[in-house]
Amino acid sequence: MSAGLSRAVNVLKEVIDAPIASYFNSCVHCGLCAEACLFYTESGDPKYTPIHKVEPLRRVYEQEYTLLGRLMKMVGLVKPLTDEELGQWQELVYDSCTMCGRCSMVCPVGNDIVYMVRKLREGMAISGHAPDGVVAATKRTVEIGSPMGVKLPAVKAQVGHIQDDTGLEVPMDQEGAEYMVLLSSMEIINFPEYLSAITRIMKQAGKTWTLCSTAFEATNSGIQIGVSDLARVIVSRIVDGAERLKVKTVISPECGRAYTALRWEGPNLIGRPYTFKVQHILEVLDEFRAQGLLKTQGFEEERLTFHDPCQIVRRGGVIEPQRNLMRMVSKNFVEMSDPSKYNWCCGGGGGVSANEDAEEIRLIAFKRKKAQLDEVKPDKMVTACANCRIVLEEGLEHYQMDLPVVGLTEMIAEHLVESEPGSQKE
Ligand code: SF4
Ligand code: SF4
Repeated sequence: MSAGLSRAVNVLKEVIDAPIASYFNSCVHCGLCAEACLFYTESGDPKYTPIHKVEPLRRVYEQEYTLLGRLMKMVGLVKPLTDEELGQWQELVYDSCTMCGRCSMVCPVGNDIVYMVRKLREGMAISGHAPDGVVAATKRTVEIGSPMGVKLPAVKAQVGHIQDDTGLEVPMDQEGAEYMVLLSSMEIINFPEYLSAITRIMKQAGKTWTLCSTAFEATNSGIQIGVSDLARVIVSRIVDGAERLKVKTVISPECGRAYTALRWEGPNLIGRPYTFKVQHILEVLDEFRAQGLLKTQGFEEERLTFHDPCQIVRRGGVIEPQRNLMRMVSKNFVEMSDPSKYNWCCGGGGGVSANEDAEEIRLIAFKRKKAQLDEVKPDKMVTACANCRIVLEEGLEHYQMDLPVVGLTEMIAEHLVESEPGSQKE
């Protein structure tokens, strides 16, 4: 650590790299990112402007890596960042950023503000400024295997219930299966209907599949807290499980962050390509639909809308499968304004919902979703992320909106034409 510099300056110096430098040099201060961020649009407070959220990073970059900044620091025209100031930034870096990527999408010079937030979070986590709730969730994921502390016996208990209810096998550690199914803790605890739906869909499609006893959890808290080393540990657990079982495809569940962490960031984190494919469950279902393996009957008659999870759509590139699936079982599907990749976040991604300090601003930000829903007036909202689902339910309750929220996989399963015993294809 350099003598005379605060811990804050030292850790941020370490995380600044070439992309960060080029982003600060490219910013034309147009303010477009502000209008893209629901924390700014709904609060009206300029401190929530995305590029402002990474201000400590900019100060350290200028003062440590530019000639003018160094000179200004030398003559006392600018003050070096202190550890206390960095700590005060927690509200802007963790509480009011879901890493939804809407700001990065609209920036005219291509600044990836999500990347900058990630880097700033990394520095803050290393210097002890990450929120307690996010730290605890990450610790549980690394030590126990799940951010909510879910252990294998809880999964096995759910498996037992589903087998009893459906009369179908839920395979565990089946070597050579085509698909390995991951779950999020939220699904295990709050939405067991997801695994039940998968069990029935796989049966109808005639596919071999398995859960993995050493890697059932998909959520990557390492990404949320911003520490790549922890994210790597969590991804590696899934890679080891998938390779041990020699599966062809790993299915990421109805969880947005799990998908981008595993599909797009995982190979870079572990430094090599996977030996298997990664697909989001929506992609798998849409493939089954296109191949005639997903047979449904009847339609939802109510007016339905779909909340696009940011990490699946904007950051993940899965845009059409959910729409194909919605139209498969709904006669009255209406898009909200700003659909698909332009959609507005639920307000609780990126670790925000695990962070108690963020509750007030999260509910303020939810006014954006409320406005979208007030426009289309649906009878039911469908989504494909268990975290979004919880956050949406809390927001709806807070604003006294009586609107059921359901998962798309579960809704598709409700319309399945159940296959006759013995008709399973190999
Ligand atoms: S949109 Fe891009 S260029 Fe404009 S202020 Fe934000 S970061 Fe800077
Ligand atoms: S990533 Fe989303 S929440 Fe974070 S600053 Fe950008 S627009 Fe706002």
